[in-house]
Amino acid sequence: MSQKPKSFIEVDSENHFPIQNLPYGVFRTVKNPKPRVGVAIGDFVLDLSEVERRRMLSGCDLPQSPVFDKSALNTFMKLGRPVWRKVRRRLQELLSAENPELRDSDGLKTECLIPMAETVMLLPVEIGDYTDFYSSKEHATNVGIMFRGKDNALMPNWLHLPVAYHGRAGSVVVSGTDIRRPKGQTRPDDSRPPRFGPSRLMDFELELGFFIGPGSEPGEPVPVDRADEHIFGMVLVNDWSARDIQKWEYQPLGPFLAKNFATSISPWIVTLEALEPFRVPAVAQDPEPMPYLSRPDDWTYDIQLQVSMQGANMVREKIICRSNFRYLYWTINQQLAHHTVSGCNMRTGDMLASGTISGPTEDSYGSLLELTWRGSKPIQLAEGEERKFIADYDRITMRGWCEGDGYRVGFGEVTGKILPAE
Ligand code: CA
Repeated sequence: MSQKPKSFIEVDSENHFPIQNLPYGVFRTVKNPKPRVGVAIGDFVLDLSEVERRRMLSGCDLPQSPVFDKSALNTFMKLGRPVWRKVRRRLQELLSAENPELRDSDGLKTECLIPMAETVMLLPVEIGDYTDFYSSKEHATNVGIMFRGKDNALMPNWLHLPVAYHGRAGSVVVSGTDIRRPKGQTRPDDSRPPRFGPSRLMDFELELGFFIGPGSEPGEPVPVDRADEHIFGMVLVNDWSARDIQKWEYQPLGPFLAKNFATSISPWIVTLEALEPFRVPAVAQDPEPMPYLSRPDDWTYDIQLQVSMQGANMVREKIICRSNFRYLYWTINQQLAHHTVSGCNMRTGDMLASGTISGPTEDSYGSLLELTWRGSKPIQLAEGEERKFIADYDRITMRGWCEGDGYRVGFGEVTGKILPAE
């Protein structure tokens, strides 16, 4: 039996960032405010701009000019999987308990390893375009029942193609950013005229998103069986949603102001290499998808997800949802193949999110809309507080991880607090 890889940095079994993970992020410190790329290892960040500057990554086929002394990961993401694999292997070697290079050099450790508590995490990618899918059958069915009734829950196209809309990249923010409650038009009473004001039905959406590494050319669709070559890694996504604005505006062209004010993402990008051991067969699809969406060996990932909520008067957060990425009907490969089949090109740094990830049980629904069934079943939080939707100063935190044998490959968290409207 092969020995489990182990780092000289102590990482306990519930920590999201063992040597098996090594997710990429962009950070700065008070001492050095320049944004740069790092990987998370336990409670530390390995400063890759330092590692690269000291020529410790030679042999990884990196270009001459710096790749990690950058304020975004795009330069590295563009290089593609063979280079990503080499860098990953080299970083695992550098951090290994067996390797004295870094382990036995206090000087190098001081320069290259920074306690996570001293870092400020920034948006990891310069995001070009952001697309949001709608790939959970359970979520689409629940929302469909609420808005159109049981008989018309799923639209006729839903089982044939991964439905999506083009979102707003400029308002994607990193975890920890407070979100101002949006204002807009709503029409709470269909017999009266619409009105203007702060959204009263603020919601979250539990999602995962993936980033495009190497892009694709206009007019050249990405085949479903080569889609993963273009995918760098994944983050947690909270697609904040104003349900009352959404209800009034969404027909005929889909969501607009209900979604465009903010989308939060976790700061660490977990690579597909790190997720590989957690592949599971994709959900069986009926009807059979069209050939351009069909990949017999298609897979998804077993990623446990949870959402917690904490009101201003609550001492601690309360978990209100437990779901799993594997519940999704459409896979990331199918999403990318469908997105480009029209000839739409992809660019490095584009972000494609999954859509709300709801499971089959009532405690696995990935939005308050579903958890409270449109406000008809308020959820009980601690200290006698209940919610139908998000109140001012409520904090929403999402976490996700893959459970290995005695270790976790995790995403950390994405958190955000709703502030009152201006
Ligand atoms: Ca969404």
